[in-house]
Amino acid sequence: MEIKILELTENKAKFVLSGCSPAFANAIRRIIISEVPSMAIDDVFVYENSSVLNDEFIAHRLGLIPLKTDLDSYVLPEKCKCKSEMGCNRCRVVGTLDVEATDSRKTVYSGDLKFEDPDIKPVTDKIPIVKLEAGQKLKLEVHAKLGTGKQHAKWQPVSTCAYKYMPNITISKKICDNCGLCVEACPKKVLSLEDGKLKVVDLLKCTLCKECMNVCPKQPPAIKVEADETTFIFTVESTGCLPVKRILVEAAEILKSKVEELSKEAKGLG
Ligand code: SF4
Ligand code: SF4
Ligand SMILES: [Zn+2]
Repeated sequence: MEIKILELTENKAKFVLSGCSPAFANAIRRIIISEVPSMAIDDVFVYENSSVLNDEFIAHRLGLIPLKTDLDSYVLPEKCKCKSEMGCNRCRVVGTLDVEATDSRKTVYSGDLKFEDPDIKPVTDKIPIVKLEAGQKLKLEVHAKLGTGKQHAKWQPVSTCAYKYMPNITISKKICDNCGLCVEACPKKVLSLEDGKLKVVDLLKCTLCKECMNVCPKQPPAIKVEADETTFIFTVESTGCLPVKRILVEAAEILKSKVEELSKEAKGLG
């Protein structure tokens, strides 16, 4: 198995995974989406809310704010030794929000949330929560916890995690007369006529739509597009809660521990 990185920034990774089965690629995708933990607000204690939105509506909005996550200092509540419903310093972070619109309309933003641990904070201060008219107030306490996308989508660490098969395009030089019809038909500009000859210029953009094959006047078509079912182009984008590199490493660790567990169980059966 091989991994070739095409693009890697703090929040986005694009890479080619080759030499594995679709089942393996899908296992990695599903673990990234549903099993790598991240932090989100889970309990909200409303002390005062005179805004136009009811408490549940505001709690829902607060839950969906992505938070910077520290996987080294916190544990999942179900794995914490405290076994307490309210949690402890290892399994939850307490935050407060106290905003009042005194004499004019005011918007409450994610940046108004203040957590006891300065490393835990919204990934951006600019997410609007509610608008307060003059005289309205919102005062509450929140408990943020680690969780997984399997429990609730608010704990998904990624906004995108998808892959597609690597395309394999072959052009039959014997049949192709370089008419250019496929170049015009390709919606992704994968093909081009260079010096009057048909060429593949941007293979990774191909979506395997096969429109080029459909428009080719030759029978059988002079161009053939196939999916390589052992090579996958992955795109993963973090919500900002964790660097995308950390998400990939965590997913690999989770998959490894699942395989080890399965092999231990299988040995026990034998
Ligand atoms: S399969 Fe679709 S995207 Fe790929 S080269 Fe052909 S027309 Fe373009
Ligand atoms: S449409 Fe067919 S014949 Fe024309 S350039 Fe494309 S592959 Fe060649
Ligand atoms: Zn605890």
